[in-house]
Amino acid sequence: MKARLSLGVICGIAVCALLVGASSLTFVFETGSILYKLGTDKTLLRTGKVIGLIAAVLLLFQLILSARFKLLDRIFALNRLYIYHRVNASVIAILAVIHPLLVFAPEDIGSIPIEIKYWPEVLGALLLILIGLITATGLWRKFLDFSFDRWWIFHRAAAFIASVMLFFHILYGSETFEAGMARYIIIASAGAYAVIFGWIKVKPFILRQKPWTVTSVTKTGQHTVSVELAPHKTSEFNYIPGQFAFVSFTSEAMPSEEHPFTISSTPSRPESLQFTIRCSGDWTALISNLKPGDSAIIDGPYGRFSYGFLNEFNEYIMIAGGIGITPMLSMLRYMADRDNTKKVTLIWSNRTREDVVYPDEFVTLQKRLNGLVIHYLFTRQKGAPSGTRLDRTTLNSILSVAGRQTPVFICGPPVMMDSVRKDILKIGFSKKLVFTEEFQL
Ligand SMILES: Cc1cc2nc3c(=O)[nH]c(=O)nc-3n(C[C@H](O)[C@H](O)[C@H](O)COP(=O)(O)OP(=O)(O)OC[C@H]3O[C@@H](n4cnc5c(N)ncnc54)[C@H](O)[C@@H]3O)c2cc1C
Repeated sequence: MKARLSLGVICGIAVCALLVGASSLTFVFETGSILYKLGTDKTLLRTGKVIGLIAAVLLLFQLILSARFKLLDRIFALNRLYIYHRVNASVIAILAVIHPLLVFAPEDIGSIPIEIKYWPEVLGALLLILIGLITATGLWRKFLDFSFDRWWIFHRAAAFIASVMLFFHILYGSETFEAGMARYIIIASAGAYAVIFGWIKVKPFILRQKPWTVTSVTKTGQHTVSVELAPHKTSEFNYIPGQFAFVSFTSEAMPSEEHPFTISSTPSRPESLQFTIRCSGDWTALISNLKPGDSAIIDGPYGRFSYGFLNEFNEYIMIAGGIGITPMLSMLRYMADRDNTKKVTLIWSNRTREDVVYPDEFVTLQKRLNGLVIHYLFTRQKGAPSGTRLDRTTLNSILSVAGRQTPVFICGPPVMMDSVRKDILKIGFSKKLVFTEEFQL
């Protein structure tokens, strides 16, 4: 925990140092365009340039945030890095709009002739439009009815083109970077970007050298399939129960897209990896067509949603909605094999009894884990009694005797997680010990 905090602080300091360093470039390498301006004009132009450079550095961070670096995942958790990525995108878009407004404020735009030599400025204008498109499609993808896989292809291609445009815009659009050290700094930054980009592109080829093999595909509940995989003979895959991985299959049955899934098996049984997948769209609808012998590529593990990342606690509360049970299942399976001293209260809300996955295994788990108590809630079961909704009253009555310093793990549909998290905090549980896992990056 302490090491993680220290590394987090170091990352924060590094980010601030880079931003301050970039902002200082227009002071250190002052050029004619700023030097000969006076008063407000000078301030506007310089601020515009500083804002442009900050936006450029943040754009480089976007790649780092989405590159799935294991170290950053360990420090911040990948899900959180994707949240930063989204917030950062909005900040970049705002700065990208302010930058030309300030840079051109001291100029009489109407009198600037349209000439070929101003191509870097035109490139900047096109870049601004592209950044707007990337941000808008990212923020409002669902509203725009953009399917995830198409959006993903667009997003990656557009982000790469934007980075190349940015490089040429800075290098040829500003006097500061015409020559000398400032120019080398930009070229070195572009080199760093190219290395990270290259790593992202090369990684799938490396993973493909050690494919996993599908050993079984079993129906485990209504609309839910369990896929078991055996590792390549030379691969070693260590994970903590509750973590997830990105999976893609090489099969005639489905496109080789990459999707994130919790590893529902337990690390105490390393001979196979299991994913429990509920049909929720075009790609997951095909999962039951996989055949034993098909191969899979696994990129992981990622995430910090596990009791394994906490200091020792004797009691845990787990609250799951529907297929959000998978990280809890992995943790419970692990506890049953290796760690049978814990007290666990599992509250599991499903629409109907038919939606419960592995019903028999949960009965067995209850017998194997002395401290496990399961409360099933069914929100759409015909003839279900009242009090079956996962609301504050139900949580309060189930958890009336649980200590308020007990860690709480929540995973399920976003709306359910939001309301349960609020309710759990309202009934007195510690904010520091409430953990959520979104099934959406
Ligand atoms: C950390 C994590 C763990 C998950 N664990 C499980 C699990 O154990 N069991 C389970 O059934 N589901 C799990 N999911 C959800 C699962 O990834 C999606 O249901 C699946 O990707 C949907 O794909 P689709 O094309 O069938 O559906 P779509 O209708 O195309 O997608 C539904 C939504 O899933 C997300 N999504 C789709 N494709 C991708 C992709 N390639 N990469 C990232 N997100 C995508 C998008 O937000 C999309 O809006 C998990 C998701 C995350 C982020």
